[in-house]
Amino acid sequence: MQELSSLVEQALAEVAECAGLAALDEVRVRWLGKKGTLTEQLKSLGGLPAAERPAAGQRINDAKARVQEAIEARREALTREEIERALAAGRIDVTLPGRGERRGGLHPVTKARLRIEALFQRAGFDVATGPEIEDDFHNFEALNFPPNHPARAMHDTFYFPDGKLLRTHTSPVQIRAMLERGAPLAVVAPGRVYRCDSDMTHSPMFHQIEGLKVGEAVSFANLKAMLHGFLQAFFEQDLAMRLRPSYFPFTEPSAEVDMSCVFCGGEGCRTCKHTGWLEIAGCGMVHPNVLMASGIDAERYSGYAFGMGIDRLAMLRYGVNDLRLFFENDLRFLEQFRTL
Ligand SMILES: [Zn+2]
Repeated sequence: MQELSSLVEQALAEVAECAGLAALDEVRVRWLGKKGTLTEQLKSLGGLPAAERPAAGQRINDAKARVQEAIEARREALTREEIERALAAGRIDVTLPGRGERRGGLHPVTKARLRIEALFQRAGFDVATGPEIEDDFHNFEALNFPPNHPARAMHDTFYFPDGKLLRTHTSPVQIRAMLERGAPLAVVAPGRVYRCDSDMTHSPMFHQIEGLKVGEAVSFANLKAMLHGFLQAFFEQDLAMRLRPSYFPFTEPSAEVDMSCVFCGGEGCRTCKHTGWLEIAGCGMVHPNVLMASGIDAERYSGYAFGMGIDRLAMLRYGVNDLRLFFENDLRFLEQFRTL
């Protein structure tokens, strides 16, 4: 018994000396593990006379319990110390000045698009979208471009090997909107379009917005009023507008839309090539073939459609003279639009 109490004292001393959780675990295994010193004591009970065994067993178990308790207490203390150390090491100085935040802004083309959408929404148009990878039916055929139609050559189209294509205009959204919603309807469809073309005023990817209104007794006069009202609201100027006869397969009659130059007010300047006019949109009355291809009764309904370049509208509104600036993502350029 003398031996047992000195073992316990030794174990308690070792526990007290442990400086870390790993060391503590080693001590636990050494004393209380399967082959631990105190566990071994229980095995030696077999050598005692039967009458002494229960009392001796009890004492050994009490000894084990004391050591176990000491280990638990030490573990708790060590864990608390570790947490306090971590807290002290990770302390933050809340009085330090912040690192500041860099404020972003919307791209000028996005700003122009949102402004155009908002103006048309105010006039009762919904915003519609469609896929950029289109099929021949939606991009050409339903828009009254039959196969081998010469107007197809005006669109330098990117084709995929399977015959699909990158849409060359936002007009396929007209077809999708009419097929989905039927008549009457009024939508604008903004989005990216693609053509095999690149110079100061052309980019292989650019942005268009398409407008379509179909209803009973929708007239060319409605179209003219809508476009004129839109241009004046977009540029916040009194502008003159004129229409010139033109040709598009999907409208009849068709017109090009000019507005008086936003820079010189019609006096003549470099931007308007001294004509006083800027070409800004194409438009016309929806061709009956297009209405029919979209499942709309062309006897009962009529419609107008127009298309404009969002990039061009943005260039004119913000006074940008090179289209490519919009797509180079030079921060010195883009940062100028942050607060506009
Ligand atoms: Zn001008």
